[in-house]
Amino acid sequence: MALLQITEEGQSTAPHQHRFAAGIDLGTTNSLIASVRNSIAETLPDEQGHHLLPSIVHYSSQENRVGHQAKAFANQDPLNTIASVKRLMGRGLADIKTTGTRLPYEFVEQTQGMPLIRTVVGDKSPVQVSADILIDLKQRAETTLGGELTGVVITVPAYFDDAQRQATKDAATLAGLNVLRLLNEPTAAAIAYGLDKNAEGVYVIYDFGGGTFDVSILHLQRGVFEVMATAGDSALGGDDLDRKIAQWIMQQANISDNAEHHHIRELLDIARSAKEVLSIQETTSLNMTLEEGNHWQGEFSRDQLYELIDPVIQKTLLPCRRALRDAGITSAEINEVVMVGGSTRMPRVREKVGEFFSCEPHVDIDPDKVVAIGAALQADVLVGNKSGDDMLLLDVIPLSLGMEMMGGLVEKIIARNTTIPIAKAQEFTTFKDGQAAIAVHVVQGERELVTDCRSLTRFELRGIPPMVAGAARIRVTFQVDADGLLNVSAQEQISGIHSEITVKPSYGLTDGEIERMLKDSMAHIQEDVSLRNLREQQVEADRVINALRSALQADRRLLKQNEFLEINQALDNLLKVRNGQEAKMIKQAIEQLDEVTQTFAARRMDESIRKAMAGHKVDEFMTETE
Ligand code: AMP
Repeated sequence: MALLQITEEGQSTAPHQHRFAAGIDLGTTNSLIASVRNSIAETLPDEQGHHLLPSIVHYSSQENRVGHQAKAFANQDPLNTIASVKRLMGRGLADIKTTGTRLPYEFVEQTQGMPLIRTVVGDKSPVQVSADILIDLKQRAETTLGGELTGVVITVPAYFDDAQRQATKDAATLAGLNVLRLLNEPTAAAIAYGLDKNAEGVYVIYDFGGGTFDVSILHLQRGVFEVMATAGDSALGGDDLDRKIAQWIMQQANISDNAEHHHIRELLDIARSAKEVLSIQETTSLNMTLEEGNHWQGEFSRDQLYELIDPVIQKTLLPCRRALRDAGITSAEINEVVMVGGSTRMPRVREKVGEFFSCEPHVDIDPDKVVAIGAALQADVLVGNKSGDDMLLLDVIPLSLGMEMMGGLVEKIIARNTTIPIAKAQEFTTFKDGQAAIAVHVVQGERELVTDCRSLTRFELRGIPPMVAGAARIRVTFQVDADGLLNVSAQEQISGIHSEITVKPSYGLTDGEIERMLKDSMAHIQEDVSLRNLREQQVEADRVINALRSALQADRRLLKQNEFLEINQALDNLLKVRNGQEAKMIKQAIEQLDEVTQTFAARRMDESIRKAMAGHKVDEFMTETE
């Protein structure tokens, strides 16, 4: 497998030619840009000293605003204040609706790809909105660094699919940025802690933010970093903790469940700040203004907090177990754990995660900045500022990639959690005599049937020269590049005809959907295996029936009447059981047909040899030995 080559021999830059490079964490809620200055990677603040840029753009006829300035318009002009655009990247409207993402915009549906968002200054695609955020970060970096950026590394969630990655790249291009590569967020966090400098190890990246939870297991070996497995829960975050605390306050203060909206909002704010205060204090007091000017006041301690939040923390350990299982390791084999995301500031989270993996987690770098810092370190290497440092990074694909076979079965070409970049090829052949084309249908998923997987793309290889069934040799290659983009090519080996496609599906999958697909495949394993077996036998039956029919059409005269009748009877029997549900019976019928057609096959063989040799001397057919 080709590894990612970062520096070409003899092409590293001279030490004085420092190039400006940056790492960008393009987040759902906030974005950051970081760079290596004087050998230290740090996030770059704006003129007001803010490091975090809210990922929000406000469009207006006078001026477009990004970040904090845009956020100020969220209440007064919500339709033109675009937030959380990362959730829309590379996704179709149908996808966005089914994932429960509630966004208050007016969408303009497109026949293909991402919907546009209607604003006063025209319809904007999620890519354009992301580009506006990136332009702001780019300007910030160029002002701070005092020169143009040579290149950037942008981080994306490990579960981002091809379409989401491509959309991110497109946004960067639109912003005038040179993308050195996209980097998975957990991998960036590991780099920030310098784990790539170790000789070897297995590391966990535990990323617990406001609304999502992700866990990744990385393996470092001989300087090569690879992601062994990823898992997560797209609907689990600090917001869940806030809700638990808010419910508890409602009970304590006798607030009814149908309290007014602004009270709920206020409650959640109080809950959140209490939670954050308890990360540094043992107790805090809660103050709440009730209806009709009444007040409620109460004490809230760490013990009370822990009772409420422990079940939520436990919930994050389920994906951790799943990732360990996928990686084929036990928690005892984990060397180090890296904490990412605001919720990992909680001492209780650190304690429980430490207990689970039996080690003290890394918490020294600000968990909100750690991803951008790792991206900056890698960007610095990629532009050639650090020539001796061969940082090799590999990530994994979240779901298996495969191809549709006869009978609607899936042939997995690249298994899930395979490290990328990767190229894998497999040979296929034709099913019918004279077959001039094959359809390549690329699917993603763990199930055995195409209908249970997700269709990514289809294309055809045409112009296969006439050959008997099974003679053509079609090599199909699946190649996933370092950014996770998939290229599928098909080539008939004898004639050399070739066709290929790069997959940019019009919509993507959320980590929740990936999780559901994995659960489904576990639940249906038994059923899938027997269904696959049945389909395989049916396909084989069809092949045998087709071949026998064309043989009978051509050479019926080689059979005596009783032999013909015997073959016909076996054929009838196979046709009868072919559409049943018993794989074993189809198999037996194929074997029986095979047995009664042996003599017929031998006679046909003799006949064709006789024909081929007619008019030639025997020694013309001998192979030369000298
Ligand atoms: P992120 O999405 O990574 O920015 O994380 C945001 C979440 O982290 C929110 O739920 C915050 O309440 C939570 N958070 C931030 N700081 C703290 C803290 N000091 N203690 C507890 N939770 C925090």
